[in-house]
Amino acid sequence: MMDRSRELARAAARVREELAQAAQRAGRDPGQVTLVAVSKFHPAGDIRALAEAGQADFGENYVQEALAKREELADLALRWHFIGGLQTNKARFVAGNFALVHSVDSMKLARALDGRASGLGVVQDILIQVNVAGEEQKSGVDEAGLPELAEAVEAMPGLRLTGLMTLPPFFDDPERARPVFARLRRLRDGLEGRLGRPLPHLSMGMTGDFAAAVEEGATVVRIGTRIFGARAPRQ
Ligand SMILES: *Cc1c(COP(=O)(O)O)cnc(C)c1O
Repeated sequence: MMDRSRELARAAARVREELAQAAQRAGRDPGQVTLVAVSKFHPAGDIRALAEAGQADFGENYVQEALAKREELADLALRWHFIGGLQTNKARFVAGNFALVHSVDSMKLARALDGRASGLGVVQDILIQVNVAGEEQKSGVDEAGLPELAEAVEAMPGLRLTGLMTLPPFFDDPERARPVFARLRRLRDGLEGRLGRPLPHLSMGMTGDFAAAVEEGATVVRIGTRIFGARAPRQ
């Protein structure tokens, strides 16, 4: 366990270093980029070990798994991020339980989250997930549907839109993801004009491409494999 703690702390430190270098290359303040450690399929013990090394933000994809870990680690002051595809019928388990929901991609889902958050008397911070590359199998609202969804969310008292998220296609060469990141940033800029207020967050960049994402303006990167190692296939 001690070795695992050290291994995780070292891996996260290396990622932080590379994040800082990427930020500096782009003339950005490294302090503006939040590292979310994506812990799906990895045990709560790994999260605890990494939290002891100072990591506070963790990302999970599956509602049951996330809530079980959250309960097991309730003694720690962590910020939980919901980053996975979310079915409308599970929205009630998510609203109010996560610092940030990255994956809002439909009116139906937004309404369900808003209903639950309003019922709890809380305001849930969210990002809208955009399918920038227009991939058919991917979740995310397409570019054409983004303004309408954003304006609808803006009118929902239980939700606070703070930016956009994207998951680019998998490329061996991270340079190929760069135009997708640049596009998300432009979409965010356009939406700020439309809504007349700042949308500070761009959640983009994973293990293979986070440096390019930070150079293109990411404020949140979601990194799993580089910190925790390979994930076992899902049972
Ligand atoms: C799993 C996952 C990640 C982390 O991916 P790695 O390549 O392991 O860093 C990031 N974002 C989302 C949405 C994910 O599902």
